[in-house]
Amino acid sequence: MPNETNESFRDTIATIDSSSGDRNIIHPKKPKGKFYKYRTWVSWFLLAVFVVIPFIKVGGNQFLLFNVVDRQFNIFGFPFFPQDFHIFAIGIGVSVVAIILFTVIFGRIFCGWMCPQTIFMEMVFRKIEYAIEGDRTKQIKLERQSWNGEKIWKKGLKWSIFFLISFLISNLFLAYVIGTDALLDLIKEGIMANLKTFSILLVFTAVFYFIFAWFREQVCIIVCPYGRLQGVLLDNNSINVAYDFVRGEGIKGRGKYRKSEDREALGKGDCVNCKQCVLVCPTGIDIRNGTQLECINCTACIDACDSMMESVGFEKGLIKYASENDIENGEKFKFNKRHIFYTAVLTLLTGVLVALLIFRGNIETIMLRLPGQTYTTDGEKVSNVYTYKVINKGIKPLENISFKIISHTGTIKYIGAQNFDVPKEEQAEGTLFLIIDKADLNSHKEKIKIGVFSGDKLIEEFSTNFPGPMIIK
Ligand code: SF4
Ligand code: SF4
Repeated sequence: MPNETNESFRDTIATIDSSSGDRNIIHPKKPKGKFYKYRTWVSWFLLAVFVVIPFIKVGGNQFLLFNVVDRQFNIFGFPFFPQDFHIFAIGIGVSVVAIILFTVIFGRIFCGWMCPQTIFMEMVFRKIEYAIEGDRTKQIKLERQSWNGEKIWKKGLKWSIFFLISFLISNLFLAYVIGTDALLDLIKEGIMANLKTFSILLVFTAVFYFIFAWFREQVCIIVCPYGRLQGVLLDNNSINVAYDFVRGEGIKGRGKYRKSEDREALGKGDCVNCKQCVLVCPTGIDIRNGTQLECINCTACIDACDSMMESVGFEKGLIKYASENDIENGEKFKFNKRHIFYTAVLTLLTGVLVALLIFRGNIETIMLRLPGQTYTTDGEKVSNVYTYKVINKGIKPLENISFKIISHTGTIKYIGAQNFDVPKEEQAEGTLFLIIDKADLNSHKEKIKIGVFSGDKLIEEFSTNFPGPMIIK
């Protein structure tokens, strides 16, 4: 580890003034370079996906919908119901293990390239800030100057655009929750007709505004649980944005660049102590102190250092994607027992998830005995009363639905219509009597197999308990 003897950097946080305890607002220098360019492209793509997805429909269903209020969920256009919670749970398990495995191997690459917080902060709000207020030095100057016309205009413009974008983000999130059609209907009806929803939208807008205008990197440093997990997930094999301290510090440490000197002969490392890597860092840290919780792997310091290396004629890559073992001992990445374990768990869970999705079926029937009711018998027949629920999970309606007893001789008496339809993504409920010939019963607690038919076509089978009198044969 670099700075093995000097751990004083751990006593302070870059975003807090060590004497007053006030917040240090970070004004990172605008990054420039290969990685920033690639990250911008990736961000535009992910932002486009985020905006477009609520407008995509599959079979009339929104592609992704998480309507927690009405308990309606669509994933890839397929409706999921609260009864499918186990699939959700396994899906979450798969995601968690995948993230763990990914993090153990590739460190916090997700934070820098895919996290919505980083994408919105660095690629939307920060770019607007640079466009209006200029780069770091101009921002600091503007911050320090009194409230004159220039400051009021620039800050006012920036905050107005921030508010507008926060409002748009809230609307997009709402489209994922209540559905795009419902959102467009609300917009058509106007604010006055939907004051409650509009107030909720404003609350979320205020939250996003607070995060992106002021709270910023504090989300990653203080709030994000994924960031806090790094300490247990990362090891010396994990690939991270890292400073090559072996090369950077040399034998005698880093030092200013002097054109005429022979650094190698003097034992100086390649780090010219220009602090460009610190100035571009959106969390205000010095990557040369080693892997830190605050580092979101945004790669801005790689670009800054590469640019400096180029200008002094040194090889690029003093800050790069590398593991601690790679930097210290030249060891390339190896698949170890930990990786094998996580991979095995991930494969198992993914297999279970795929099987559940394949065998999920489009129909689910639940038939339960009416609570508090006991069987009745006339000596030849035994009767029990049930409530049923037929859930249509498919994207087509189920028509002309009826039940038939398959395993026993008996009849069904419906309270209400004998045949019914179940529209897509809806459910039908009712009450009926199952009447079984006593001679066909073998115990006082029999399992009865029932078929669900659409017209004459059997579309599902299920079992239900059928209590009756003691049978002595
Ligand atoms: S240390 Fe480098 S990679 Fe980490 S947050 Fe700062 S600039 Fe980004
Ligand atoms: S940008 Fe590179 S050379 Fe400059 S201080 Fe950082 S690590 Fe050293």
